[in-house]
Amino acid sequence: MINFSNFKSIISVINYFHNEEICKNALIEARWGDDVVCPHCGKHHCTRRADGRFRCNACKHNFSCLTGTIFENTKLPLQKWFVAMYLISSHKKGVSSCQIMRDCEVMQKTAWFMLQKIRSLYGITDEIALDGEVEMDEMYLGGRGANKHESKKTEGTQGRSTKTKTPIFGMQQRNGNVVAMKVENTQGATIMPIVNQFVEEGATTYTDEANIYNKLTENGYIHEFVNHSQREYVRASDIHTNGIEGFWAHFKRVIFSTYHMVSKDYLQRYIDEQAYRWNTRKQSESSRFEDMFKKAVKSFDYTDVLSLSSVVSIEHFREYRVMYYNLWKSTHCA
Ligand SMILES: [Zn+2]
Repeated sequence: MINFSNFKSIISVINYFHNEEICKNALIEARWGDDVVCPHCGKHHCTRRADGRFRCNACKHNFSCLTGTIFENTKLPLQKWFVAMYLISSHKKGVSSCQIMRDCEVMQKTAWFMLQKIRSLYGITDEIALDGEVEMDEMYLGGRGANKHESKKTEGTQGRSTKTKTPIFGMQQRNGNVVAMKVENTQGATIMPIVNQFVEEGATTYTDEANIYNKLTENGYIHEFVNHSQREYVRASDIHTNGIEGFWAHFKRVIFSTYHMVSKDYLQRYIDEQAYRWNTRKQSESSRFEDMFKKAVKSFDYTDVLSLSSVVSIEHFREYRVMYYNLWKSTHCA
């Protein structure tokens, strides 16, 4: 049995996973234990072959411990994958593909694909429910018009305009989890279904005065708000949105300092990564690595995206599924 609490540093990961056989045995143990299950048909009658692969006696497919995981068809030693997983899960501000390129001695393109695959693990979470006291806020990612060169400015993009900025909506249970996602716009009609999906009825919600939150009360929530436009940030000591704003501040620092620029297509992955990091902030590096390791051996099934925290509507689901599937396919040739 691997004792994940021993992985207290990157050196311990490199030392332990020093050959491919140890890496594969670790994957087999984390994925199946002694009870190997065929990833093709789900039956338990599988035999180990002389070459270390498995054969299903029911459907006659051959498979390995990598089949159906993020490592399938990889040409890299697994040690490099595990090192990348450890780095991304232990660095509070994330790791860029240039850093992985240097640390794992791979091409930058390969490093980018590795990171995207590892990031895809963060999105696959069980349904998160927020309850008790929940703060909500929106954030707009994209440069401030005032800081741009004259030729690159677009008229009317201040404040909540989404012409050149991407809106992100976030909710945080006080002393609990964050759920955040890229949204098309920040209108009440877009936001309310998301709130209904993740926040338990009867919860106390804290927002600013924006009218997108007008319907919280009639949707069964207690609604308290502060008036930011009147420079009111805290009322009666507990009415504020400082928690979720702290998450935004951290998220922006990571995007600007580590990743510099993030394409809109992949933005949700970076949000998921930061939300995961935030939600596991009280765990040790080794337990976060263990959690990622266990996520990584789950078969990749793109219908899983249905249960993704980031999916808010069936249109969104389709878009997400296509994106995941394309990435999944493209990584096979990387
Ligand atoms: Zn089978």
